Amino acid sequence: MHVVTMKQEFIKLFDHAPEHAYFAPGRINLIGEHIDYNGGLVFPAPITLGTYALVSRRDDTLVKAYSMNFKDLGLITFDLNNLTYDPAHDWVNYIKGVAKMLAEEGTPVPSGLNLVVFGDIPNGSGLSSSASLEMLTTYIFKDLFNFNLSPVDSALLGKKVENLYIGVNSGIMDQFAIALGKKDHAVLLNCENLDYGYFPIKLEDHCIVIMNTNKRRELADSKYNERRSECESALSKLQTVLNAPNLCSIVLADLEAHKNLLTEVEYRRAHHVITENERVKQATECLKANNLEEFGKLLNASHTSLCHDYEVTGKELDALVEAAWEAPGIVGARMTGAGFGGCSLAIVEKDSAEAFTKYVGAKYVDAIGYEASFYIASIGDGPTCIQMEGDEAHV
Ligand code: ADP
Ligand code: MG
Repeated sequence: MHVVTMKQEFIKLFDHAPEHAYFAPGRINLIGEHIDYNGGLVFPAPITLGTYALVSRRDDTLVKAYSMNFKDLGLITFDLNNLTYDPAHDWVNYIKGVAKMLAEEGTPVPSGLNLVVFGDIPNGSGLSSSASLEMLTTYIFKDLFNFNLSPVDSALLGKKVENLYIGVNSGIMDQFAIALGKKDHAVLLNCENLDYGYFPIKLEDHCIVIMNTNKRRELADSKYNERRSECESALSKLQTVLNAPNLCSIVLADLEAHKNLLTEVEYRRAHHVITENERVKQATECLKANNLEEFGKLLNASHTSLCHDYEVTGKELDALVEAAWEAPGIVGARMTGAGFGGCSLAIVEKDSAEAFTKYVGAKYVDAIGYEASFYIASIGDGPTCIQMEGDEAHV
């Protein structure tokens, strides 16, 4: 459906039909939150919500891009010969950033493109629309210009765009989950050495409900950086007595034995990281054993730890998750993403999904004063080409 509307927009803007269509997913993180920059295990999965692009090649070096999510900004044009970050180019800096990093790696994008983009994933809600756009762009360049980039190379390139070009100090999880996405599988990723493995997610008569607080993430970036520096400070103090490359390599007993080295806040941050990393291991064991009930309890424990030890939830995420915990059909629920607003996820019995969202939705409005949004998520593939035939597109 999206692609049909996008195609009409494309023809209006560029006077010719698009040649190619692409999609890249967003992601949820099932468990392992605020772990990727602490060298531990995360367990994300790509979802069927994400970002679409229609593309045609140009003979010059211009990229002309239009987002149906940012119609007010109109068509934004840049030249591949000038890839300096420009605030006036707004969201298109993500595309420029990918081109810039490719050029730095010795594979400059040789010629321009016309592009129409549309995302059905909410921006700034913890489902990583930015990584979706980066991995979409990387995939388009790779596909059109035959760049020799593996999915892991693509993820690393996207992280560089985010860190060095956009200026967001994020870890590798989002790009990795998207670039290596595989339908009905989550990726267990060791963020220290990028070892990874796929886990089939067979929910059978259960589904994943994504619950969006619809809260703007005003303080998210500064609080995120604050948490990172609290973890760094806790680690450097613990490293005076322990041989530990990162917080996730420390066992709980050692943290307890040396807690006197840390401030109370540093202790709680480290406590979250170490216990959360342990929960990820237990969660994969539960899935192997098909024990969804225990998996759900680990999700709940993760949220409690993110609320009390890590303090990244806030009243909106807590209202959603606490309502979910008592709602019909619940197996487990937690916030997902960086926190301070954004989304939560819940595992819910399929037959109760409607009653579940009705219950949680009503409780949320009562507590917060505005509505939450709900999406039933399926775990989809990583970036793909979409076949276009006439007016129809097969996604
Ligand atoms: P998140 O990654 O959590 O969704 P970010 O603030 O990191 O939030 O990224 C959101 C930004 O990514 C948007 O403000 C925009 O610049 C860019 N972006 C994401 N999706 C799209 C889209 N469909 N069209 C244009 N820009 C997009
Ligand atoms: Mg982002």
